[in-house]
Amino acid sequence: MPTPDETKPRVLELRTLLHEWGSAYYVLDAPKVSDAVYDQHYQELKSLETDFPELITADSPTQRVGDKPASGFVTVTHKVPMYSLDNAFGYEDLQKWGEKLRKQVDKDLEFVCELKIDGSATALSYEAGFLVRGATRGDGTEGEEITQNLRTIRVLPLKLLGTAPPTLEVRGEAFMPREEFERNNREREANGEKRFANPRNACAGTLRQLDAQIVAARKLNFFAYTVHYSEVESQWEALSALETWGFRVNPNRKLCRNIEEVKAFCEHWETERENLPYDTDGVVIKVNQFVDQAELGFTSKFPRWAIAFKYPPKEMATQVEAITVQVGRTGTLTPVAELTPVLISGSTVSRVTLHNQDRIEQLDVRVGDTIVVRKAGEIIPEIVQVLGDLRPENAVPYRFPSHCPECSTAVVRSDGEAATRCPNLQCPAAIRGQIAHWCSALEIDGIGDKLIAQLVGSCKVQSVADLYDLSPDFLSGLERMGKRSALKIVEQLQNSRNQPWHRVLHGLGIRHVGERVAKELARTFSSIEALGSANATSIAALYGFGEEMADGIVEWFAQPDNQQLIARLSAYGLGLTAKTESMVSRIWAGKTFVITGTLPTLSREACTELIESHGGKVTSSVSSRSHYLVAGENAGSKLTKAQELGITILDEAQLQAMVQAAFAPRSPDC
Ligand code: NAD
Repeated sequence: MPTPDETKPRVLELRTLLHEWGSAYYVLDAPKVSDAVYDQHYQELKSLETDFPELITADSPTQRVGDKPASGFVTVTHKVPMYSLDNAFGYEDLQKWGEKLRKQVDKDLEFVCELKIDGSATALSYEAGFLVRGATRGDGTEGEEITQNLRTIRVLPLKLLGTAPPTLEVRGEAFMPREEFERNNREREANGEKRFANPRNACAGTLRQLDAQIVAARKLNFFAYTVHYSEVESQWEALSALETWGFRVNPNRKLCRNIEEVKAFCEHWETERENLPYDTDGVVIKVNQFVDQAELGFTSKFPRWAIAFKYPPKEMATQVEAITVQVGRTGTLTPVAELTPVLISGSTVSRVTLHNQDRIEQLDVRVGDTIVVRKAGEIIPEIVQVLGDLRPENAVPYRFPSHCPECSTAVVRSDGEAATRCPNLQCPAAIRGQIAHWCSALEIDGIGDKLIAQLVGSCKVQSVADLYDLSPDFLSGLERMGKRSALKIVEQLQNSRNQPWHRVLHGLGIRHVGERVAKELARTFSSIEALGSANATSIAALYGFGEEMADGIVEWFAQPDNQQLIARLSAYGLGLTAKTESMVSRIWAGKTFVITGTLPTLSREACTELIESHGGKVTSSVSSRSHYLVAGENAGSKLTKAQELGITILDEAQLQAMVQAAFAPRSPDC
């Protein structure tokens, strides 16, 4: 464990950074980093201060709520302080919070789950039913008076409906819906102004406009979530009461009997929130009964009876430990940042591509830098930002290699191209890449990176065709290779001869010919001879492929080495010709499918393959042009949309039955 003296410099660094980021965020509404990155550094500071309480100072960002009100507005003191919320980063935190509360009150508690709307907390005061004052949260004790601005929000009642109590304090979230955010940004761009960073800052900035006309034009919206009124006894009742007074209350809420139900609510909205017309960054969970809330009380910053559950961030900051360069199957040199491993969206990220020399120079990323890495969905992680403030003094600019790190050949970069290449066709790295690509395209199992390295290293395999010369005897003589594994590999290679023409075409690794393009090409050109004799113009005209791809194909066929490769593959019996037309099914030609949910037996890929093999097309989103939705278990919003649009919905069995029906003999004479 480090000493307080050793820890102090980092604590000071984090404090300075968080003050700077906080001020840009709260005062200027122009964040320098994402909320996730801010939270990550905030949590680091909090944990260091927990380990060394002697390092806590009154000005530490961990000791304050929000920030001071901005100048230009009248400062008002909140009748009831506006606390911030403690955070739960994950289900474990949530579980712990539930258990702690249970122990404290010694009974089961009810919870209200509300979506955490990403906007600005706002305090509203009503007197005799009329809105008399509206304010920002500010530092929780004092905020800015923004009544005129809030009055422009159409959904906000200026006069309460029904019987109004003499005074009423209401809290809620003003926010900018996504559609308005996009519209406002389009307008700003057209006027040569800077885009808003995100809807939350756009909303906060809008509420601080001195001209209410501008606020009105930006079309903010509002959800109420708290009322200070002695007649209601629980949060659940409070939300209903707010509705009867005419407030807009978010309908996506739930009264839960335990933390398991809370967890289910959070899980449900983790993906569903993408379909909402506004941003949410989590779920706010509040103990329902006010008597229980009173018993639990507050810390200096937060109520103990509420917590903000935050969804796992899609981006995190981490350090660059090294920059390495990989040589791919086409000889392209790809620089890669080797990172201190970091958990993002449920998986550990330890490397991120830096793409090419230009990208490195543009980012000016250096060894030792702290960078922000994003991982959205299944997408490969990417660098979004280099945190210059955290750069070590001795960090030097990265110099791109002038020679191939694999075979030492001088690298080349053609005019107008972003990629730097190793021109050596015999470069072992390129050969290894080609073999790996071939095995993946033709679904040959058992030939992993280590075996490929041995095969290429031993000079036994210098092209994909050499794989078909491998004997079980030779393979079983290799390191860590048993007889049975050797036999299996040879069997896999034999089986790959039955793979269809489009897979073989993909496996050849021609530049720009990925899986989808290979399928399209194989549909038009029924054999390798047909494709090899096509000219660039006719290929480019197909499906809008473009000249670069067409030139790549023609160049590939023009190389004598590749002609030799084709001859050898043909001799080994690889599928270089399409099946005859009578064997090709077109039952779904012109039909568009969307797949959703988990199917009982078919994976997404297998289902796509089945549809495409019968001439159909698979797209990712449901629209009026979709013909069928194949729906499995846990189908979400796509199913609802398809139902609304009246699109035919099939389960897996019905899909399979359509294929069988198409091939069933129509009459005994058929
Ligand atoms: P918070 O955003 O974590 O949570 C509290 C807020 O949730 C409330 O003030 C309210 O505005 C909102 N909220 C939405 N729906 C609610 C509901 N139904 N009930 C109650 N509250 C609801 O806390 P905070 O103090 O407002 O802001 C701190 C956060 O601001 C940090 O976690 C960080 O993500 C962000 N921040 C970012 C930067 C940056 O540089 N990007 C800088 C400073 C702060």
